[in-house]
Amino acid sequence: MGQSVLSTGFTRIEGVLHCEGVSLELIASEVGTPVYVYSAETIRDRYRRLDRMLSSVPHRIHYTLKANSSRGVLAVLKELGAGVDVVSGGELRRALVAGFAPSDIIFGGVGKTEAELAEALDAGILLINAESEAEIRLIDALAGQREIRAPVSIRVNPEITLDAPHDYIKTGGKGHKFGVPIDDVIHVAEVAASLDHVDLIGLDMHLGSQLSRIDPYREGTERLASIFAELNKRGVASLRYLDIGGGLGVRYDTEEPPDLQRFAAAILPTVAETGLQLIMEPGRFIVGNAGALVGKVLYRKRSGGKDYVIVDTGMTELLRPSHYGAFHRISALRPRGDARRVDVVGPVCESGDFLALDRELDDVQHGDYIVVADTGAYGYVMASNYNSRLRPAEVMVDGDRFAVITAREAISDLTRLEVASPEWHLATAAATNGGGR
Ligand SMILES: *Cc1c(COP(=O)(O)O)cnc(C)c1O
Repeated sequence: MGQSVLSTGFTRIEGVLHCEGVSLELIASEVGTPVYVYSAETIRDRYRRLDRMLSSVPHRIHYTLKANSSRGVLAVLKELGAGVDVVSGGELRRALVAGFAPSDIIFGGVGKTEAELAEALDAGILLINAESEAEIRLIDALAGQREIRAPVSIRVNPEITLDAPHDYIKTGGKGHKFGVPIDDVIHVAEVAASLDHVDLIGLDMHLGSQLSRIDPYREGTERLASIFAELNKRGVASLRYLDIGGGLGVRYDTEEPPDLQRFAAAILPTVAETGLQLIMEPGRFIVGNAGALVGKVLYRKRSGGKDYVIVDTGMTELLRPSHYGAFHRISALRPRGDARRVDVVGPVCESGDFLALDRELDDVQHGDYIVVADTGAYGYVMASNYNSRLRPAEVMVDGDRFAVITAREAISDLTRLEVASPEWHLATAAATNGGGR
């Protein structure tokens, strides 16, 4: 299925898959496999479509780094004027290194450490999305030490049940670890507003990921708007931002991603009524369809009545199929014409290491390239060194040019942090030196 329905930016020219104007065969032979290839123009197109959709209200688009934090990807988004949303000190550092102004960075996440919060305050970022009263009190204390006021938004758990395709990507339902439970939000907001070193400037939510329905956004936005109204009534009048998170779905197979016009019609009137500036934190929507993973066929084999295609890439480069049961279209870079029903599996020593099970695929042979579609989001960022595999290269294509934006890891990277001659410490000595603190 879907062999001819390729992502924007990826087309066949005389049978050979191209990204924009560059043959994937050229990239695979020059850079090697496995390799991630991204279409700059697709990223720009997605960003602009979202920006246009929100144009009737004051808004900010903060691309969520965790979907794909490669510097080359960030460069494309920075040029478009995007802000970013980070969820760790590491991502904060990446955003700053990529040249984003602190005032274009927001920081979220359920488990920020004291050191990470301090870093965010020292950098002077736009806002911190806080997820509990305890976190807000810690931010207040840290800001107090610095004699500043910390810009804080409260992440509300809107308690909306979702239709996301996997439990692991639902985040805004009752009882999830994320955000402040909706019944506590007024109390927590009043606490925040009363603190000396906190500026409560926003309300935030993030429903989940790969969402195809608009209703949850409409309901969630309405819930945030009514919290805003209630806070106004109680004299908390410092709010400036209404952040409705990310989560917009993309097409991997036959899904119908939300229609942007209808999406806008469902939420923007509510946002406009509040007079607040809208923030969105899209990740997958911007980059999901903009990337492909290219691998090479190592072997064909039959076992237990099954036909296996063994390729040089698997769960270490693309975890989504084994972790979430995610579907990605796979096709031959240069099809031979026939098709077979096969399992496409990687080289990792795990039965869970597969890219597709029981899938109709071009009849690929040893040495052929395969292309795993729509892997721009939650692909490379989840790559691991399991089995001491090297993380793959990443390539950006822009028109008829391509560039390596992340080099393939080298063997020396694998052992770089290992201590050849460990320095042993005696437990008894550590204990007398202050109990390990
Ligand atoms: C992951 C995440 C996003 C982005 O989600 P997508 O589904 O990729 O759009 C946005 N906001 C927060 C807080 C997140 O954790």
